Amino acid sequence: MSTEASSYDGGCTCRQTRYRMASKPLFVHCCHCRWCQRETGTSFALNAMIEADRVQLLQGAVEIIDTPSNSGKGQKISRCPRCRIALWSNYGGAGDTVRFVRVGTLDEPDRLPPDIHIFTSSKQPWVVLPPDVPAVAEYYRASEQWPAESLQRRAALTAAKPPWH
Ligand SMILES: [Zn+2]
Ligand SMILES: [Zn+2]
Repeated sequence: MSTEASSYDGGCTCRQTRYRMASKPLFVHCCHCRWCQRETGTSFALNAMIEADRVQLLQGAVEIIDTPSNSGKGQKISRCPRCRIALWSNYGGAGDTVRFVRVGTLDEPDRLPPDIHIFTSSKQPWVVLPPDVPAVAEYYRASEQWPAESLQRRAALTAAKPPWH
C-alpha cells in the first residue's frame, strides 16, 4: 500500500462533524508563533497542509469564522457549528486552494508528526525539539524543504488556478 493511497479521518469533539483527508498532506508544520500559541491555548499548532479538494466532509458541516492573522491578510477557520472546535483553516495569502488541517483533530494524529518546526524564535523554552527534524527561526522556502512530490502537487495547484484568478 502506498502512503499516497492512505486516507486520514478526523472530526470535532461533539462528533457531529467528520472529515477525511484523501491522501497524505503536502507538508506538516509545527508552528511556535505567538498567534498559534494563543489560538490553541497551548505551545504550538500542528497543521497538515493539503489541497482543499482532498478534504472531504463526511458528516455535519463547518462554520467559517474570519479571524485575524499575523500577516494581516486574515485566516478563515472552519469550525464545527455545534462544539466550535477548529478543524482546518485557510490563510488569506493562499486562498482556498490549500487547507491547514489541525492534526490534533485526526483520529490517529500520531501518523503525522511535524516535517518542520517554524517560528522557533518564539518557542516556549521548555519545548525541546528533536535534533533530526528541520527547525527555522521564522519561515522558510518550500523549494528548500518540501519533498519533490509535494512540490509537484503544489505546481499542479498553481497551474489549475492561476494567480490572477
Ligand atoms: Zn462538534
Ligand atoms: Zn503560527
